[in-house]
Amino acid sequence: MKELDGQIALVTGGSRGIGLAIAQELARAGARVAVVARNGEAAEAAAASLEGTGHRGYACDVSESAGVKVTVGKLEEELGPVDILVNNAGITRDNIFIRMKEEEWDEVLAVNLKGAFNMTHALARGMMRRRSGVVLNITSVVGIVGNAGQANYAASKAGLIGFTKSIAKELASRGIRCNAIAPGFITTDMTAELPEAAVEELHSRIPLGRFGDPEDVGGLVRFLAGPAARYITGQVVAVDGGMAI
Ligand code: NAP
Repeated sequence: MKELDGQIALVTGGSRGIGLAIAQELARAGARVAVVARNGEAAEAAAASLEGTGHRGYACDVSESAGVKVTVGKLEEELGPVDILVNNAGITRDNIFIRMKEEEWDEVLAVNLKGAFNMTHALARGMMRRRSGVVLNITSVVGIVGNAGQANYAASKAGLIGFTKSIAKELASRGIRCNAIAPGFITTDMTAELPEAAVEELHSRIPLGRFGDPEDVGGLVRFLAGPAARYITGQVVAVDGGMAI
């Protein structure tokens, strides 16, 4: 018997990077996982690669509320009601503030913050009816400490923290727990483009002296989604090698 046997989990941005590691860990814990990403083929391939059976991939842009509703309806029909929602889909459009274009601001807020609203809104009513559910939002240390060149991204991630704490308060009486996870620098496509000099400088600012792996986030999601975390809600848990101490 595994701790998430019989549970349905939905992971946005689960086709690669941190989201894929989260999907893998939830599948290993016994959950059936719906992997959501804009690229449906990549989402299906990721779902097919997970341990166990019954996982499915779906093409969906989390920033489009109408599409999110349709996708959620379809996947709940196919898999059953979602017990665990992980809002992980996220993008960067970095620029120094003075050069930041309105589109760069809007795109990042639409995916990182409104995407989490869209998904949570589409699923919360069902969770409330069933009086149980877990919502985990993948924010960032940058949402706590800020970062030059990432005003849009940091604002979206700080927004997710306020969102998490507010819905944790609203939904606790309905048996729903909501927490945020704040990774530091994790080795994925998102950080692959950093110049070597920047990587070395960043390493020197991380007490554990290196970037984390996607699995480091996956393990924390598994813990926060499961019964061992049943008394934890409204928290922001960093997994950052000590970067934000
Ligand atoms: P990644 O490797 O770039 O993967 C992003 C994932 O999100 C992909 O599956 C992508 O698939 C999906 N996605 C992007 N836009 C989407 C949209 N509009 N709708 C649905 N899915 C979308 O990123 P990552 O590094 O794993 O980051 C995952 C999360 O962790 C993000 O929220 C990020 O901000 C956060 N984070 C990352 C780091 C880090 O150092 N890597 C640190 C702190 C926080 P498609 O392109 O097919 O849509």
